[in-house]
This record gives sequence, structure tokens and C-alpha cells, in this order.
Amino acid sequence: MASAAVPEGLDFSKVSTPAYIVDLSKLEENLRLLAKVEEESGARILLALKGFSMYGVFGLVNKYLKGTTSSGINEALLAKEYFGGEVHVYNPAFERGELEELAKFAHTIVFNSQRQVEKYAGLARKIAGENGNENLEIGLRVNPEYAEVETDIYNPCAPGSRLGALRSELDDSVFGKIDMLHFHAMCEQNSDVLGRILAHFEKKFGDVIGKVKKLNFGGGHHITKPGYDAAKLVGLVKGFYKRYPNIEKIYLEPGEAIALNTGVFASRVMETVKNGCDIAILDCSATCHMPDVLEMPYRPQIFGAGLPGEKAHTYSLGGRSCLAGDRIGDYSFDAPLGEGDILVFGDMAHYTMVKTTTFNGVNLPDIATWNPETKEYKVLKSFGYNEFKSRI
Ligand SMILES: *Cc1c(COP(=O)(O)O)cnc(C)c1O
Repeated sequence: MASAAVPEGLDFSKVSTPAYIVDLSKLEENLRLLAKVEEESGARILLALKGFSMYGVFGLVNKYLKGTTSSGINEALLAKEYFGGEVHVYNPAFERGELEELAKFAHTIVFNSQRQVEKYAGLARKIAGENGNENLEIGLRVNPEYAEVETDIYNPCAPGSRLGALRSELDDSVFGKIDMLHFHAMCEQNSDVLGRILAHFEKKFGDVIGKVKKLNFGGGHHITKPGYDAAKLVGLVKGFYKRYPNIEKIYLEPGEAIALNTGVFASRVMETVKNGCDIAILDCSATCHMPDVLEMPYRPQIFGAGLPGEKAHTYSLGGRSCLAGDRIGDYSFDAPLGEGDILVFGDMAHYTMVKTTTFNGVNLPDIATWNPETKEYKVLKSFGYNEFKSRI
């Protein structure tokens, strides 16, 4: 598993900032661990593209993982074009045209309600058959009505959630029309949480697990985080295979765990100003480039920096946008910050480049890879005015 560190051997003074930089050796470390969990558990692990869609590294990822899961047609098209393997796709509500296109190539289409299954499952199977995609499978996302996610915007089982059908809303006839039961109820959690969710899932749906051949335990498994109990996960998956011999495959679909601690974000100090405190203006933006810092919210790690007051010089770090709240937080440093100093943020590969915006006309960061073995720094993408213009 990768732990957060500055990419080894990279000379940041040569990096054009801001930039997301994925360390290929760290990514491979995570992938090796995930492949081992796959092998030991018999589960198949899919990359959830929502969290990490950097297709420039898909060649490396699909050496280890054999499929992806998408949140809709556009991610699924990316999966088909750049990843291959099993393409799974879920959406809270598919539009007919999208469904017709997906049915031609998707391995599994997961619906969110009985109505969507009734409206589209037959049509999808028919289109799949006509297009040589005979193995298309149909899933239904259900709500296990149990989660331990404290932040409501990340809790698919929060009261009033639209994600996943309630058992009480389902007529038993629907289970004869599907191949897979799917739930997703975790966020950055360990396998003990999965154990408790599975107990609730079995209580609600145990009587119909016998009617399907596949299960999907969603994402949110923090498998590559130091301290994650992978042996427990393996045991839970094996237990299900044993109790339900009809189940041919159990899927896990983490996003974050694939890219956890594999990438950094490099940014430069542009100016320093004062307003009751020392303020540094960076060439990046929290709201445009790392929105989870404001949404979650959380305090990103900066290598070499401390808590406010911990080191001699404390700064409030702010972005280049005109949003007053575009502030990353207060950090302290051994030396005063000055123009051109480079700050390196840790764990910035997942839920960053997939969430960027060009709000305020702020430019998008470079997307790059670092290979510590060959010492190659490669910019895969850089952006300018056209990306801003094309969105509006
Ligand atoms: C977001 C999401 C995932 C991936 O979650 P991570 O927290 O990145 O592991 C998997 N499945 C579904 C349905 C999701 O919405």
C-alpha cells in the first residue's frame, strides 16, 4: 500500500505548476495489493471512475484490475475506449438514448429502481443480443438501510436518500428480472464497517440473494490505507460465497483505494500579503482544483508544513480565484514563504482532477506522471483558454 510521501527523486523546481503528479510506482504498489485481495477473496475489483479517471495511466491499472464501474454514459464510454475489460455502469436514472447505447457494449447495467428495471431491462437485453453483447447482465442497486458515514453528503443511506431501492418499495417479481444485487454504502471505511452493513443487507435481502448470481458490495473500501484489515474483507467475501453457492461473482468497486496516496499536487506561492495574519496567494485554487477541501471539508497535507503556530511562520493559504472562501487553511513553515516557493500537497490523485472546474476562468492544472525508476516526468495534459471557453 502506498503511504503519503513526496515523489522520490523529482526536482520540483522544474515542474510547471500547478500540477497533479501521479507517482507510477506508488500506483503500482496499490494495484498489487488490490490484485492480492482479489486473488485471496475471489472477489473482482472494479475501478470506480468517479474517483479516478486518469486514462493516461489505465494501461498500468488494467494490468492488475480487469474492469471499471461508471456513473453514467460518459465514464462508460471512456472505460470502453481506454480501459476495456468489464464495463459496469450505474445511474440513478438512465435516459433512453443512453441506455440504448450502453446496451451495445456494457457488461453490467445497474438500475436504481424497480421502475427502471421494468422500463429498460428487457430492451437492454434485446439490444445487447442484436449487437453481439449476449453476456450483458442487469443489476439493481438496493439500499441496505445501514451506513456509518457521518457526513450526509457522502452517505447514500441517509434519510431521504434517492440512491438504491428500499426493500419496502420492491415487489418480489423484480428479483426474477435481474442478475445482480448491488449496494454502495461506505466512504473511506475499514472492513469492520462492511461486516455490519452486510449483516443488515442480509437481514433485508437474504431471502432473495438466492435469486441472483452476482453481488456488488460497492465502493468506499479503504483497502490500500495503512491499517486496513484486508484479511477481514477476504473472510467476509468468502463467507458469502459459502453461504450462497448460487453466487458466481462478488464485486467490489472502490475508486479512492486505487489512487490513495499515489499523487501529489504541486503549487507555487505567487504573492504574500497581510491582513491581521500572513497570507500566501498560491497559483492554484481550492474550489477549482481540490474542491473536497471545501466540500468535505478537510485539511490537506502539505509536506514540510505544520499546524498553525507549530513552526515559526504561519500563513493562511489562499487560491487565485475571487471567491472569498477559496482558502486552503492555515499552515506553518520553518522559513517565511516567498514568491516562487513550491508547496506540495499530499494524496491529491483521487477526487481532484475528476472534480475540477474552470470557475472564475482559473486555469486547470497539468496532469503528469513521475516514474521514480526511469526518472521521467511526463506531462500528459496541460490546459488553457480553450478548456474554459468550451465549457460555456
Ligand atoms: C462513489 C462510488 C464508488 C466509489 O467509491 P470510493 O469511495 O471512491 O471507493 C463506488 N460505487 C458507487 C455506486 C459510487 O457511487
